[in-house]
Amino acid sequence: MAKTNPALKIIPLGGLDGIGKNMTAFECGPDMVLVDAGLMFPDDEQPGIDLVLPDYTYVLENEEKLRGIIITHGHEDHTGALPYLLMDLTHKVPIFSSKLSLGFIEGKLSEFRIDAPKYREVSDGTHLNLGCFSIDFFSMTHSIPGALGVFIKTPQGTVLHTGDFKLDQTPIDGVTPDFHAINRFGTQGIDLLLSDSTNATRPGFTPSEAAVGAALRHIIKNATGRVFVASFSSHIHRLQQVCDASTAVGRKVVVTGRSMVTNTKIARELGYLKIANENIIDAYEVGDIPDDKIVVLCTGSQGEPLSALARMANGEHRSLSIEPTDTVIISATPVPGNEKSVQSIINSLSKIGCDIYDKSKALVHVSGHGSQEELKLMLAMTRPAFFMPVHGEAVHLRAHAQLARDMGMRDDHVFVCDNGDTLEMRGGKVRLGEPVDSGIVYVDGLRIGDADPVVLRDRQKLASDGIVTCVVTISSRTHKVDEIEISSRGVSFSNDDALISEAQSSLRASIDKKDILKGATTDQTRKAVRNDLSNFLWNKTHTRPMVIPVVMEV
Ligand SMILES: [Zn+2]
Ligand SMILES: [Zn+2]
Repeated sequence: MAKTNPALKIIPLGGLDGIGKNMTAFECGPDMVLVDAGLMFPDDEQPGIDLVLPDYTYVLENEEKLRGIIITHGHEDHTGALPYLLMDLTHKVPIFSSKLSLGFIEGKLSEFRIDAPKYREVSDGTHLNLGCFSIDFFSMTHSIPGALGVFIKTPQGTVLHTGDFKLDQTPIDGVTPDFHAINRFGTQGIDLLLSDSTNATRPGFTPSEAAVGAALRHIIKNATGRVFVASFSSHIHRLQQVCDASTAVGRKVVVTGRSMVTNTKIARELGYLKIANENIIDAYEVGDIPDDKIVVLCTGSQGEPLSALARMANGEHRSLSIEPTDTVIISATPVPGNEKSVQSIINSLSKIGCDIYDKSKALVHVSGHGSQEELKLMLAMTRPAFFMPVHGEAVHLRAHAQLARDMGMRDDHVFVCDNGDTLEMRGGKVRLGEPVDSGIVYVDGLRIGDADPVVLRDRQKLASDGIVTCVVTISSRTHKVDEIEISSRGVSFSNDDALISEAQSSLRASIDKKDILKGATTDQTRKAVRNDLSNFLWNKTHTRPMVIPVVMEV
């Protein structure tokens, strides 16, 4: 009697409202597994916020069911919530992932001093049972080695989750997507497909990672001075291609930037990045090595202000600087939201006068996500009965859904969901179930807190309009204003003495005239000061800086 058995619930807790904080729960009766636990980096609308996490309350509420956490690959939008989640869980739940992903996760968790998590290495072909879930892992190609997809069999049906992928036929490490396994699962029958939507609006195929090698070799070979290459520190295949192009022309590779140093070390120890010891050196060992014998591999491809590239471009790096005879390659694309900071670095570099290559000028970057034709191939190989596009903004999920419909899938078999929606599967049939609590959690410095809109609004105000402090001294004898001091930060009129003194006399007149000081509490006076000054500044400058009133009686 299939109906009396519990349904398989597929619950996306993150990843459907933008590229980031991926997390999906699979729950069936007394068992639950989690696929990915990622974070998202905040955008300009959230000043002062360091990180954004998915709200995983539902996982904590059902902790006794949680049999394991599966991490598809080592990118932070899939791993970054792990430290917080593990701290919140009361039991030690095993983490299943590839060797490189576990290497990166271990590095991160040790920074958080989380002791002895249960790491379980898996790879292409690994099969395991977690409660009623029977799980098979298969290789995928992506912008980080060791990326895996998962095929999940349950008493109610089967689900294939692609993880992040492109279909690269010539990957740098020779590990192609496991087409055989995907086809085998397709033949066994896939009831529901969850597939990466990042590039669902891009026609065609994403070029192979190998295509970048030719451009890198050409630029590095023809450069006369030093070559600086900024890239993602987890993009080990890209780093491998830079190392190969450098050593081929007798250049040493200098590694700088915290995550670049850490990740190249981990990747070399685990055998993912191959370069001889004598060819890779620290930034302090550059010494007398001639400029045309050096390639610097650095962080900063996203324009991060404290990154190695930014510090070198601004002359603030301890041992390296960029000269007019040098060449800089930005071997990455700005993540949405980072375009301005990348442009600002390019401007700083232009002032230096060095040669600059980014993807607008040469093929120095390709995406790690498949374009439309690859997404269609995935749908064709898996032939799912039902489909839920994942990993994307609203526009990407809808474009991916349209591709499935174009290929003949029934409209009511395609689910474009929001975080917290639940799909229920019974006997291979999928329908929408009851949603669960979901949302986002901001991590602000070391404090993890709820989304406090008031705090965020204040920071937006500070960032856009600045702050004005107004100290009003009141005579306790006359109940009149004795003195008004106004100071400001980050406002357009901070040097306009005439405006400030006009503000002082206007404030003095309005407070004295209203006679508000007689019998008013300090709190009421403060409110009146704030309103009066805010209105005055709005009328004169059409800005609304944050006004902090201080009222003192003397
Ligand atoms: Zn990824
Ligand atoms: Zn991702």
